[in-house]
Amino acid sequence: MSRILVVEDESAIAELISINLRHAGFEVMIAATAEQAQAAVDGVLPDLVILDWMLPGQSGLALAKRWRSDARTREMPVIMLTARADESDKVAGLDAGADDYLTKPFSTNELMARIRSVLRRKAPEALDSAVEVGPLKIDPATRRVTRVIDGEVREVKLGATEFRLLHFFMTHPERVHSRSQLLDRVWGDHVFIEERTVDVHVKRLREALGPVQCAPMIETVRGAGYRLTGQAEAMLMAAAKALSA
Ligand code: CA
Repeated sequence: MSRILVVEDESAIAELISINLRHAGFEVMIAATAEQAQAAVDGVLPDLVILDWMLPGQSGLALAKRWRSDARTREMPVIMLTARADESDKVAGLDAGADDYLTKPFSTNELMARIRSVLRRKAPEALDSAVEVGPLKIDPATRRVTRVIDGEVREVKLGATEFRLLHFFMTHPERVHSRSQLLDRVWGDHVFIEERTVDVHVKRLREALGPVQCAPMIETVRGAGYRLTGQAEAMLMAAAKALSA
């Protein structure tokens, strides 16, 4: 389930947003100040933040800037809310690193549409769309992982953590992810879990992918972390051909 942090000091607005988000299947955390928001993010990295510009104390704008300058939160999607409608304010918000910008009052439908659009662009693992990489297909809606071999659909059985891990890999293919990034994005917590936990689950994931010949898609990148590649099959076939030639 995707986690959304709502940072808004007006409790009526925060409640309205969170009711709609929960209804749409999101898990919601609420923070009323920049300090509370930072504490929430320090604990568990959300999939997306809805951030009000006008907060008591530190402003939402300053908070967005701080998050963009920190490696851990740099990629965290942020949608900024504001009562201001000035074009210059919008530019300032986007300059501070907001991915999108909504002026109050806004309709719930518009907010939900913006959230889906930002997630599709920046955190596709938080959405339920089916994804294909190389020969492998994952469908979060049905929780199925499949590969077609000789015209037959073969299903891969995965535990909950391995499923989330594979889903994250497949929505961010060909990129190297460090163990701490994986803890943040897959487990949602970088503090309380040891990095070797990642290795344990990667090993289980490879074992589960073995029967459908997809284990080589998960590559270990020495000194850096792990990567999922859709090119592995082509490479393996080339290697097999070279051997048999
Ligand atoms: Ca406010």
